[in-house]
Amino acid sequence: MKNKKILIIAISIVLIVIGISGWLLVKKEYKDMSYNEFIKNINQSSIDEVRIIDDNILYVRLKDNKITYKVPNPLKDGFKEYLLLKDIKVTLGNTSPIQKSFQTIGVGLVLIGILWFVRKGSSDNKQVIVDANKRNVNNNSVVKFSNVAGNNEAKELVKDIIDFIKTPDKYSELGARMPRGVLLYGPPGTGKTLMAKAVAGEANVPFYAVSGSDFIQMYVGVGASRIRKLFNKAKKSEKAVIFIDEIDAIGKVRAGKASASNDERDQTLNALLTEMSGFNDNEGIVVIAATNRIDTLDPALLRPGRFDRQIEIGLPDYNARKAILSLHAKNKPLHDSIKIDDIAKDTVYFSGAMLENLMNEAAIITANNNEKAISKKHIDKAFYTVIAGAEKKDRSNITDIDRKITAYHEAGHALMTKLLLPDNIISKVTIIPSTRGAGGFSMSIPKDRMYQSKKDIISNIKVLLAGRVAEEIIFGLDGVTTGATNDIEKASNLIKDYVVKYGMDNDFGIFNSESANINDSTIIKQCRNEIKKAYGSTKEILEKNKDFLDSIADMLMEKETITNDDIDSIYA
Ligand code: ADP
Ligand code: ZN
Repeated sequence: MKNKKILIIAISIVLIVIGISGWLLVKKEYKDMSYNEFIKNINQSSIDEVRIIDDNILYVRLKDNKITYKVPNPLKDGFKEYLLLKDIKVTLGNTSPIQKSFQTIGVGLVLIGILWFVRKGSSDNKQVIVDANKRNVNNNSVVKFSNVAGNNEAKELVKDIIDFIKTPDKYSELGARMPRGVLLYGPPGTGKTLMAKAVAGEANVPFYAVSGSDFIQMYVGVGASRIRKLFNKAKKSEKAVIFIDEIDAIGKVRAGKASASNDERDQTLNALLTEMSGFNDNEGIVVIAATNRIDTLDPALLRPGRFDRQIEIGLPDYNARKAILSLHAKNKPLHDSIKIDDIAKDTVYFSGAMLENLMNEAAIITANNNEKAISKKHIDKAFYTVIAGAEKKDRSNITDIDRKITAYHEAGHALMTKLLLPDNIISKVTIIPSTRGAGGFSMSIPKDRMYQSKKDIISNIKVLLAGRVAEEIIFGLDGVTTGATNDIEKASNLIKDYVVKYGMDNDFGIFNSESANINDSTIIKQCRNEIKKAYGSTKEILEKNKDFLDSIADMLMEKETITNDDIDSIYA
């Protein structure tokens, strides 16, 4: 391939050289001759040929020497006949026949040379397209799991999807219905698109992407037909990943009133749902959609057979940020003074995209300063560029005090779980906000039991209240926040069932108040009393264990996400 290219270039150059030298060969030196001398030469019959090119000059060749002379044109009527009568060859126009033929050859050769070049160019282009197509078929998405840092849980959750794309028969033979659709949800810039590409890359299949926002403001029917075209294209590749970014734009919960744009959205959405239910189970086509707003999605999209696997892609915690920063620092020379750990610490609530942006901006600033390695001051400068460019709704400007509040709140839940429900496994405590809830969250897996005892229910209520209690212990009665909203709602429901349904309240006794018409205020009073009691007891317990509370909160502020083992290491 490369040799052929060189050969073609060489041939073209040779042709052009031949052409030009041919041209130069006939292009002779001219000497001036006066009109008088010219007449003398005519009279001596020593002139062989006269060329009349324009009104100014005659080109004159003598019989005995090969030099061409330039003679002023007398512009006389009958001049040509006069010359012809003297047996002189007369040509009109600019070249002699020999010169003309030489020039024709020269020009021709140059043209052929140019043609070679052009053809070479276009055939090269063709090659590129073919190559690209080949790449499409063999390895469309070159993104691999190794390009996605962090997001380990999400990676785990898409592994079998990749396996399914590769060997759908393995699943269909067992009657397993793999999800046709996977919904990735989470804040912008957290790597949802990247993850979808990595699925295609790992499965080694083509990646077809559209964005829901492309479909807004289209004429009715256009969106639907584009969806069908997209799926047809994907089906032609047999196996593929279809990616729909910003699916909320077409899959928003239907707003009551029908309007033209709603009609269009419905048609697009219906086309999508129809196409998705149109695959056979053993086809290796998977649709991956992404959204920042799972709460606004039409529930029709989330039903079985549609986007029934929903995976949260959250903001990276400290360790994930370290991994993402390292990945994007790989090809960038860092000054020895730079520690990735420190940058990771300073970038709480940054998304993956912001971290990538940070490293890139730092590299640009370094290059602008004509320096060879990225140093701390470049990172600091880039930091402000990234923060300033970030959207308001980003959490990157969450204050330290808010982090501290969240840390104590979550530490309260975690510690109380440890103390009251030691059989529960705390899988994750984090101060990184999730898209589904506010602030941070703690996740604990209760021991699998058929029944819940009275003690368990009260313990659960205390665990729920522990967030608010911890806030009160640290920040005072006036310092508590709205962060406990959800906890209070859950605790209230639990206590209501405790009193009203389960017949567990000693004072209230065994009686389902929903069966009779008992005064509401009595129930409310009873529930409030119980909650108050639970709150007081929780406060007592947490105050007694304040050292642990502090340690867990500190660890949370440092690491942002901690596990059961981390808490055990403090507690031991
Ligand atoms: P989303 O689709 O969630 O809005 P993208 O996938 O478009 O986010 O991410 C934008 C860019 O941010 C990626 O191309 C990548 O450079 C960087 N990025 C985001 N998350 C990660 C991650 N987990 N690992 C590595 N790079 C990431
Ligand atoms: Zn809470």
